Amino acid sequence: MFFFVLIGQFFFKRMFKGGAGLTNAMSFGTSNAKVYVPSETGIKFADVAGEEEAKEALQEIVDFLHDPSKYQDIGAQMPKGALLVGPPGTGKTLLAKAVAGEANVPFFSIAGSEFVEMFVGMGASKVRDLFKQANEKAPCIVFIDEIDTIGKKREGSGAIGGNDEREQTLNQLLTEMDGFDGSKGVVILAATNRPEILDPALLRPGRFDRRVPVELPDMAGREAILRVHAKKIRLSDDVDLAAIARASAGCSGAELANLINEAALRAVRQGRRTVNQSDLEESIEVVIAGYQKKNKILSDDERKIVAYHEVGHALVAALQSHSAPVTKITIVPRTSGALGYTMQVEENDHYLMNRTELENKIATLTGGRAAEELIFNTITTGASNDIEKATKLARAMITQYGMSEEFGMVALQTDSNKYLGGDASLACSEQTSADIDRLVVEMVQKQHDKALQLLRDNEAKLHELASYLYEKETITGEEFMTILRSSPLELEEITPDWE
Ligand code: ADP
Ligand code: MG
Ligand code: ZN
Repeated sequence: MFFFVLIGQFFFKRMFKGGAGLTNAMSFGTSNAKVYVPSETGIKFADVAGEEEAKEALQEIVDFLHDPSKYQDIGAQMPKGALLVGPPGTGKTLLAKAVAGEANVPFFSIAGSEFVEMFVGMGASKVRDLFKQANEKAPCIVFIDEIDTIGKKREGSGAIGGNDEREQTLNQLLTEMDGFDGSKGVVILAATNRPEILDPALLRPGRFDRRVPVELPDMAGREAILRVHAKKIRLSDDVDLAAIARASAGCSGAELANLINEAALRAVRQGRRTVNQSDLEESIEVVIAGYQKKNKILSDDERKIVAYHEVGHALVAALQSHSAPVTKITIVPRTSGALGYTMQVEENDHYLMNRTELENKIATLTGGRAAEELIFNTITTGASNDIEKATKLARAMITQYGMSEEFGMVALQTDSNKYLGGDASLACSEQTSADIDRLVVEMVQKQHDKALQLLRDNEAKLHELASYLYEKETITGEEFMTILRSSPLELEEITPDWE
């Protein structure tokens, strides 16, 4: 008998341990927010590079948690919540962890999706439970990551099969935020990539009334981030992180961290013990353009066309004033689907672009197709991406930047989602919209004609560069410039835009 009871107990225990469903079912309605103690996250503000403004805003919260009386004496009230807002991978979660590391208080961290439960009412009870724990542990920080999963705008009533569960969870969150006493020292942090889909009630005063923008890093920021992550790997002496920062415009912190790691992996693959500059350069392309696809075979004719196409871009860019220098041209296909590409890198970060620069950019984009037309007297499908970009740019010049004579400074378009590049909505009449279409066509056509003319005037150079590229597959900016400068060129007349 005793023996069977033992065996029975054994299996019973196994069942509870092994069956995730069972254990979950047993912990109904208890929040699984973990209590982080400072030493566990170990992340400090120093680990977050760049993002000075965000750090400053959060520093105040840390300060408050350390010494609330300083604020209470003067009668100042800390905002109850701060919302970290910015594109993916910019370090929002990292910043929240750093706040936890700096303020020596308990840190409750939970992802928005963890509130999403199968049964109606479960999410709400999790929220209640979380805040109960937080109140007991005050002063402390509650961090809700990806809050948009529960904080989405509520739909009007009467929606059949509306997401009742989510609404209840959100309502509970709002109630809890109103209910607790801010002076006790519970600070709520939340992060999202999509602030515009949040329920407006969340953003009302007394809730998340402080917004902390976390933007993509600029050049100095990128260099700082590279430095932070480069500390973990062994670099050789030739490494110039500033150059890498310059060439990785538009990369987020997460992508830069990935870039460093890719470089280290490449060094290992090649049997070296340190990471050198070419590892890093190669990784930029990995991060930006996908892995090199060495086995994708193009026919000879195709490669020739791609070579002329890419040199077309590069030549048009170089023949115009006001355009970023070409740093690399390649006809090695990428997994991203590109058959080749021309890399242009700005010397410095650029925040303002004038009309000439934008027009030149469109001309550069049309340069690939123009070269195909000029040399092969035919056109291919290879320019689809260029066409899309050129069209977008021309349209933006007209509808967003007020750069057309016809409409001037009238906003004809609004971006509904700044961070994720969502749909832009047209705010104009049908007639205007038709006019815009016509202007876009005219603008792209004009630049295309210009590109064609530039290439026609420099056809010898086009042949010379294209055959060199065809031979070498990849040429650097310096090689390009050397060939370009080796004999006189028909340069575009330089007329400053502000004349
Ligand atoms: P988000 O939450 O904004 O999507 P994360 O905080 O998860 O981004 O960032 C992902 C990773 O990227 C971090 O763990 C870190 O390694 C790196 N990273 C992002 N931004 C920075 C930064 N400013 N400084 C240092 N590392 C960063
Ligand atoms: Mg995150
Ligand atoms: Zn192209």
